Amino acid sequence: MNETASLRARAEIDLAALRANVRVLRERASGAQLMAVVKSDGYGHGALPCARAAQEAGAAWLGTATPQEALALREAGIGGRLMCWLWTPGGPWREAVEADIDVSVSALWALREVVAAAGAAGRTARVHLKADTGLGRNGCQPADWPELVSAARAAEEAGALRVVGLWSHFACADEPGHPSIEAQLTVFRDMVAYAEKEGVRPEVRHIANSPATLTVPESHFDLVRTGIAMYGLSPSPELGTPADFGLRPVMTLSASLALVKEVPPGHGISYGHHYTTSAETTLALVPVGYADGVPRHASGRGPVLIDGTVRTIAGRVAMDQFVVDLGGDTPEPGARAVLFGPGDQGEPGAEDWAAAADTIVYEIVTRIGRRVPRIHLNAAPERG
Ligand SMILES: *Cc1c(COP(=O)(O)O)cnc(C)c1O
Repeated sequence: MNETASLRARAEIDLAALRANVRVLRERASGAQLMAVVKSDGYGHGALPCARAAQEAGAAWLGTATPQEALALREAGIGGRLMCWLWTPGGPWREAVEADIDVSVSALWALREVVAAAGAAGRTARVHLKADTGLGRNGCQPADWPELVSAARAAEEAGALRVVGLWSHFACADEPGHPSIEAQLTVFRDMVAYAEKEGVRPEVRHIANSPATLTVPESHFDLVRTGIAMYGLSPSPELGTPADFGLRPVMTLSASLALVKEVPPGHGISYGHHYTTSAETTLALVPVGYADGVPRHASGRGPVLIDGTVRTIAGRVAMDQFVVDLGGDTPEPGARAVLFGPGDQGEPGAEDWAAAADTIVYEIVTRIGRRVPRIHLNAAPERG
């Protein structure tokens, strides 16, 4: 406790909240399995402890973007089903197949590489064929699907791989009622039906991310892939607050005040002097900046709880620090400034920072810098 109390900055990660969120999402998923998405270091929360906690709460699958992220989890001793989807030519396909990682294939080049890797490894690869049902990002276009399915079936007959999954990803699931949601579901059902007619027998068909898991029950199929909601954040303000869904924010970001001082009226604050004191006042120096993930776009706007009051950043966010006008209050240096958290002390939420920086909560938590230690709390699951 005292060791962390003296830290310049810290991101506390409440693993009990993460486990509770996983349970809430499993309930929402109405019988479908749950994949805990822990890409990008668990959205900035620490991939390894979050993966463990999610598994403890019943996540049957883990998902990452890159194979390197998946391999790192395996090297740390994480078992169970683990899938990754963002591949580039060259792999590491063989390492993934040998580490028992499920891989995604969107195109013939990837299918050829995974077949070669399975041969070299002397193992059968587990493949999820990805359909582009309308996102226009990764995945196989409907026009190219017959060729990909036929090549995958041939590789399956040859024993190189098994097609264990058919999957896709939504474009606008965070905009309730957006017509693309139904349109993508229709294309997905057609592409799944085509593959099954050609003899594919998938274990899991999956398309739902967090917003679809929360609001589009007919998208759940056999597996839902949840990232942001598992970290206790709502995918978008239109959808609702975390509390509306029974979710609890997992990360609390805070810093220890480095300086509190009195200044005269008319004093310019921080680079560019975009803020000037209007009266004699006190200032707090908060020792985190854009290198720590505090968005520079939130200059003059970002909210922070200091000494029981939520205040706004005065002037520019610098690389390592920003300043808050305390209006005469004089907390001790070392008092904590809480940038965001679950709100228990009246602190802002990550969504307030997203609004201040004109971005989404995903970017706020994912970009918290490496210089901020993550302090994992409640690692041991509750008994009973
Ligand atoms: C990141 C990601 C997810 C998780 O999305 P959330 O909105 O955070 O739940 C699911 N599937 C894929 C393919 C992703 O890249």
